[in-house]
Amino acid sequence: MTENKQAPATVRVVTSTTAELPDGAAERQLANHLRLANLLHRSLDINEVLRLFAGELTRELGLASVSFQHPRYNIAMEFGEPATHRAEYKLDIDGESYGSLVFSRGRRLTKVELDRLEIALVALLPALRNALQYLEAMQTAARDALTGVGNRVALEVTAEREIAMARRSGQPSALLVIDIDHFKRVNDKYGHSAGDCVLVETARQLKQNCRESDSIFRFGGEEFVVLLNQTEETGAFAIAERIRTAIDSMLVQYGQQTIHATASIGVACLNPGEGLPAWFDRADRALYLAKQAGRNRVVRAAKRNIA
Ligand code: GH3
Ligand code: MG
Ligand code: MG
Repeated sequence: MTENKQAPATVRVVTSTTAELPDGAAERQLANHLRLANLLHRSLDINEVLRLFAGELTRELGLASVSFQHPRYNIAMEFGEPATHRAEYKLDIDGESYGSLVFSRGRRLTKVELDRLEIALVALLPALRNALQYLEAMQTAARDALTGVGNRVALEVTAEREIAMARRSGQPSALLVIDIDHFKRVNDKYGHSAGDCVLVETARQLKQNCRESDSIFRFGGEEFVVLLNQTEETGAFAIAERIRTAIDSMLVQYGQQTIHATASIGVACLNPGEGLPAWFDRADRALYLAKQAGRNRVVRAAKRNIA
């Protein structure tokens, strides 16, 4: 059992500490506090804010690790190697959660050190709130409002990262371009709102049939893109087939109407040295061939584009 283990505390401002400090220590503590607050306001990037915070406190208190969790934003960060003695804080202000922090060290944290941690948390909170708001804005800007999957901007950012990673690691990557068949007819027959429902259900099928590590985007209208990392052609084709079957099997209920839809899919594996435009173009051409061949099918892209 750890001596400092406690029920996660809610941050409070410590007012009694300074009175117990030796001469000059209160001024030093205030100066430290202001310097830390200043430092943390240098960045809006949540990773950077917490890296700076962990670095400062680790230096000052000889901590073994600092970890931060915020499940709502899917954040779990750990700086250093966890040790036996832990102090955990839940950062809840006015019913709003700003995540939770765990500090650990090989030897027990003293009362004065715990008070120091709490003062440091007060310096962290405004920077953390700004960084979380920024993250939220970025996530919203990158999301398609109707289906909740990534939008075209997000695709470009994620694909660039994926391409760079594949280049470094030599791991294969695949891209699927998925287009709903005769979607105009769906809109014409059932109305635009019913069409929207089909788009939402299609996105749900994509999420259900992909891995957590895959990324899903709505490229535009009734066209979706899926990036499959660490996936070679046979695997990508199998996932595309699974998606095609799932869409073909789905029945979308809209009022009294039951709507059936199908989709055509083009699959392309990333070529060495290839950028997103060429990669996407090959998948898109394969999609076109799938449409020409009668729709509701998956077609593999040519290894090279024929101009
Ligand atoms: P194909 O099988 O060749 O892909 O035929 P299609 O009818 O699906 O293709 P086309 O590109 O002719 O039509 C796409 C339709 O998608 C036309 C457009 O009105 C509709 N659409 C685009 N965005 C949305 C949207 O956000 N909601 C709805 N309901 N319809 C949309
Ligand atoms: Mg279509
Ligand atoms: Mg289309």
